[in-house]
Amino acid sequence: MSSTPVSPPVPPRDDIGLMAGYHSAQVDVDVRLNTNESPEPPPAAFLDAVAAAVSTVDWHRYPDRAATALRTRIGSLHGVGPDQVFVANGSNEVLQTLSLAYAGPGRSVAVFEPTYALHAHIARITGSSVAEGERTGDFALDLDEVRRVLAEAHPALTYLCSPNNPTGMLETPDTVAEVLGLAPGLLVVDEAYGQFAPWSALELVDEATPLVVTRTFSKTWSMAAARLGYLVGPSWVVAQLDKVVLPYHLDSLKQVAGLAALDHVGAMEERVSRLVEERGRVEAALRDLPCEVWPSAANFILFRPTTVAGAEVWQRLVERSVLVRDCSSWPRLDGCLRVTIGTRDEDDRFLASLREVLT
Ligand SMILES: *Cc1c(COP(=O)(O)O)cnc(C)c1O
Repeated sequence: MSSTPVSPPVPPRDDIGLMAGYHSAQVDVDVRLNTNESPEPPPAAFLDAVAAAVSTVDWHRYPDRAATALRTRIGSLHGVGPDQVFVANGSNEVLQTLSLAYAGPGRSVAVFEPTYALHAHIARITGSSVAEGERTGDFALDLDEVRRVLAEAHPALTYLCSPNNPTGMLETPDTVAEVLGLAPGLLVVDEAYGQFAPWSALELVDEATPLVVTRTFSKTWSMAAARLGYLVGPSWVVAQLDKVVLPYHLDSLKQVAGLAALDHVGAMEERVSRLVEERGRVEAALRDLPCEVWPSAANFILFRPTTVAGAEVWQRLVERSVLVRDCSSWPRLDGCLRVTIGTRDEDDRFLASLREVLT
């Protein structure tokens, strides 16, 4: 990708011109533990089903605009009807569609930092103002701060991310219920890592409640390449999203791939529980090293090396062909790195390399 000239011949919208894009380094290494993908591909039977579907898709026709079959299957997975499910190209597109329908110029979106950078980024791209609340020093949500930010900004959308990226920390049912009671607009709970956690805000979704929960096939379903995500919420929210999203946004092959994935819920759940067990092993090993470690309910762990600077540790891991996420220069995350849980072999490579660098 070429870099943007300082003053492009045709200027974009003023606010976009000033913006930095969203980037995650794609470095060629043996062990990639930087973007929270699944270390394992989906089951072979899924691949066979998708391969067979390629020749049955009506390629000369537009896809089913409403993605009815896929919405119905996702809905039955969560005990709701298809009218309470919205599906899009990754949960990022779900979030963008929410912002287009509910936020935008003259409206604000509340986030509690540090959290997933895309929440604020997408809000700004859609012309919304962003009300940034602060978490406590140990990255916990501070309900007094939530109260203050929501009362001041009166946001159309309030974001929680649970488990939170990049900290891995989970909100309790009480906390989510309390924020729901305080939020003047819609509460969005981003559950990209929901299946790794012991509870889900999906249980609070109801027609009468201004709450939506977003999920993705990118992490737990081993399908980052497919770009498929969804939301579960009240049907009156889904109806607005359907108006705003581009027509035929979800291609036919992707709809079939989503349906094929849902034939293998058991394999997904087994993979998730293996990763949860492996997360415990990696966390314990990190605690034996000179690192501050945050408890995680997701498939990654945030840690801060205490004897060598985070940025230097990141570089020396890359030299050993291990890539983690360098959060060391991000606001509030001074010196921190984030490692995705990989296969046992990948995690051993990571831990051995880290041990070398730190001791
Ligand atoms: C990875 C991630 C997503 C996934 O976005 P997709 O567009 O579905 O790939 C969403 N939210 C959070 C917090 C994430 O970490």
